[in-house]
Amino acid sequence: MSSATPSFKQLKVAIVGGGLGGLAAAIALRRAGHLVSIYERRDFKLEVGASISCAANGGQWLREWGVDIPSGRPTNLMKLVMRDWKTGKILNQYSLDEYEATWGIPYYMFHRVDMHDMLLKTATQAEGEGTPCSVVVDHIATGLDAEAGTVTFANGVTVHADLVIGADGIRSSIRSLIGVTPDTKSANQTCYRCNVKVTDIEKLGLVGWAADPAIQFWGGFPTDDLSRYYKIVMSPCAGGEIVSFYCFMPTEMTNHTKEGFTFAEVPVSDLLAGDYSSLDPDCVGLIKNSIDRMPWRLYVHQPYPYWVKGVTAVLGDAAHPMMPHQSQGACAAIEDAAALGIIFSKDFGYTTDVKKGLEMYQHIRKPRATRVQSASARATENLNERIGFTSLSAPEARLKAAAGELTVNEMNNYDMRAHITTEAAMFQTAPTPVDLQAQL
Ligand SMILES: Cc1cc2nc3c(=O)[nH]c(=O)nc-3n(C[C@H](O)[C@H](O)[C@H](O)COP(=O)(O)OP(=O)(O)OC[C@H]3O[C@@H](n4cnc5c(N)ncnc54)[C@H](O)[C@@H]3O)c2cc1C
Repeated sequence: MSSATPSFKQLKVAIVGGGLGGLAAAIALRRAGHLVSIYERRDFKLEVGASISCAANGGQWLREWGVDIPSGRPTNLMKLVMRDWKTGKILNQYSLDEYEATWGIPYYMFHRVDMHDMLLKTATQAEGEGTPCSVVVDHIATGLDAEAGTVTFANGVTVHADLVIGADGIRSSIRSLIGVTPDTKSANQTCYRCNVKVTDIEKLGLVGWAADPAIQFWGGFPTDDLSRYYKIVMSPCAGGEIVSFYCFMPTEMTNHTKEGFTFAEVPVSDLLAGDYSSLDPDCVGLIKNSIDRMPWRLYVHQPYPYWVKGVTAVLGDAAHPMMPHQSQGACAAIEDAAALGIIFSKDFGYTTDVKKGLEMYQHIRKPRATRVQSASARATENLNERIGFTSLSAPEARLKAAAGELTVNEMNNYDMRAHITTEAAMFQTAPTPVDLQAQL
């Protein structure tokens, strides 16, 4: 940043995709002084809930943006508990007692629908900094001129913007339209997710452990007689009214080829296939009483060669889809949004050179997001590699673990604003876009 006040131009921003990342970007860019429109392919009523962890590296931005966090009905996690798959015996615990005191914000668990509603309200309401964002539903992006900032939709509408953000998720059209072809393979592991109402847990008499709104349970740590692809995660959400289950198993145990939030519910028997027969009876009882049972097919994506072209950039799952085992997908999308809000703020001169601003966005975000993406893939193979559990692993497991495991400190100590300020100062004489892409 030079000592002179940087010039600032209000931008017209088109965000394709009104999911968690698109809404976060809308909030950040609105607050930075821009006029934001969000184009979403479907009606939001189709959203089906599952829990979303929001660690401090995501939560700090929600707070900075003035999001009414209690309206999202989060529960505050105080413990990650490792349970034995078969007996339910507690193997170890990662305490979050000092989390809020250390990082200034709790470790939140949201129900996805609540989190979405909370972000949508913040983006569009009159209160808060900047001009309220507009939301246009039933608009499926199908065409793009990435240099000119022109997006066309399946219904024939064309819009022009100074900045286009592709926040259109794991199957992003905008990503394809900027010329990135994903290198993707089906994961060895598939997930079923389901919810259990706490009122049903009460009926089963399992309130003592299963309905604690402050505890997230994990099962499926490496043993000799259980495939490493069996994993279970139980998380409280929706203000403690629901416990959300992620039931992972080897892909060959499943017969589902579809993914997403809108496919038909599956029977309990699909969730209790294979070695779920040896899962501890309390967990089996809970799954038998579940609702919203959906398949979730998982894919491993190699990092993409680039995220930006012209005045267009991708973010969130469109830029760095990751396996779920670090619970960082939404947080990474929020960090992308925060980076855009800072880069295109009045503090820097990038609003008069959007292309350069997007090069900075990629330069700042891609290495960190890629690191989380690869750590998420590693935690698929060994749950001891999950953030938090990395600090609990037995010495021999730690020796086996790949180098460079992620820690809570690395995730939460990061100062993005300082990073951008430093890099922006260096960027005056920095590499050309071509050199930059070669580095990343
Ligand atoms: C079951 C599940 C559990 C998860 N758990 C966690 C967790 O615990 N913690 C965490 O941090 N992350 C979690 N994640 C990941 C997290 O939800 C995603 O990383 C995050 O939602 C990414 O946000 P996004 O905006 O990039 O994508 P999405 O939230 O998927 O939004 C994409 C949006 O784009 C729209 N769209 C798609 N194509 C088009 C088009 N052509 N035109 C217009 N609109 C379009 C879609 O309808 C959608 O609304 C989970 C994901 C899933 C599926």
